[in-house]
Amino acid sequence: MSFLDLDLDLELQQQLIETGFTEPTAIQRQAIPAILDGQDLLATAPTGSGKTLAYLLPALQHLLDQPPREGASPRALVLAPTRELASQILRVAAPLCEALGLVCAQVVGGVPYGNQKQLLEDGMDLLVATPGRLLELDEKAWLDLSDASFAVVDEADRMLDLGFQDPLKAVASLLPLEHQTLMFSATLESDAIANLAGALLRPDAARIAVSEARAVAGHIDHAILRADNEAHKLALFKALITDPGIDQALVFVASRRQVEQWVAIVRDLGIMCDGLHGEMGQGERTLHIKQLRRGRLKVLIATDVASRGLDLARISHVINLNLPLKADTYVHRAGRAGRDGSAGTVWSIVDTPDWPKVGRIERYLKQALPRLTLKGLEPSKSEPQAPRKTKKPKSKTSGKAKSGKKATARGTASAKKPAGKRKTA
Ligand code: ADP
Ligand code: MG
Repeated sequence: MSFLDLDLDLELQQQLIETGFTEPTAIQRQAIPAILDGQDLLATAPTGSGKTLAYLLPALQHLLDQPPREGASPRALVLAPTRELASQILRVAAPLCEALGLVCAQVVGGVPYGNQKQLLEDGMDLLVATPGRLLELDEKAWLDLSDASFAVVDEADRMLDLGFQDPLKAVASLLPLEHQTLMFSATLESDAIANLAGALLRPDAARIAVSEARAVAGHIDHAILRADNEAHKLALFKALITDPGIDQALVFVASRRQVEQWVAIVRDLGIMCDGLHGEMGQGERTLHIKQLRRGRLKVLIATDVASRGLDLARISHVINLNLPLKADTYVHRAGRAGRDGSAGTVWSIVDTPDWPKVGRIERYLKQALPRLTLKGLEPSKSEPQAPRKTKKPKSKTSGKAKSGKKATARGTASAKKPAGKRKTA
């Protein structure tokens, strides 16, 4: 199937072809016709599967199908949980809008109100926003959503994690009576999502789930490296981060302090590196992401602020220096590696306190994570036994890859192998 088979405007098709996209991804194939049909939608697809265009293309088509905007108020709204995600969505939307003679803009937190007031007065067709700031602008009576008959909630699960349930309902109440709503998420497991869908979507909303919601994109190789202690962890990290197979690496740590600490370690190795954490100003955050995208940085050390949605196309490796509390966060971190079907690698250096999380993640993924040891840096103690709740594949020695000092878990680009079927031994 090609984009030409979808009922999209020729100009839009042309733009896609120029971008080099020939075929819609699975979620795009399924979601776009349902959305063009006017249905509400609850959709889930793994990270990196192309959800952004799955809603942006029909959003733009919706704008083309309607009479042109008369006043300033937007006719389509995309809600994103964080500023970074909003910026990223705008980056995808902007060139398309420009080619179609449409105007798009974003309003997000962390930037001055004045500019945003101006922006709203100047008007736009498509507005990308974070819910909190949107409501603040509404309180100031600067916002008019009465023409926004097309609304998208991206990363709905993340929205809930951030406590945006009520703000989202409040935003929905500002939309015109007749409107179409789409909810996208990388995971749709919870009752909370069902509740939110119940509040925001019409009862006959279409539901689309592309592949298993829990699956990490299949072209990503995972490996766990066990660390005895901090010194061992440091030695393992230094060996990994200097692996010649790394194009760019995103390294996850638990706190702001650790971000600073590990940035210094990587810089000491002569590697261009910077950090990203939630307490950083917006300008600095944006700058570091830009530098990474332009290839000026090789390594970015981040807290989970950076784990969702950010499309950093050249990230070849994700390294976890701590494991997240929630298994689905692991999936999102892993999703930063190997975008666009290119091969990606996730290495997790796990110390004893973090060890119980391994079992939790394996149960969540329904797959054992291969163990990796580096020559000369093998752990001295044997693997702690995780309390076993389910019959889990015996993972103690499975997949033990010992392939020289710079052992690389990076596989050949076996694109699109379903994660559930991955061999781990
Ligand atoms: P998601 O929101 O599902 O995590 P994104 O929308 O960020 O994924 O898309 C992931 C990557 O896939 C982006 O780099 C995007 O440019 C690319 N992409 C999207 N649609 C297509 C397509 N039809 N063909 C090729 N690449 C695509
Ligand atoms: Mg996305």
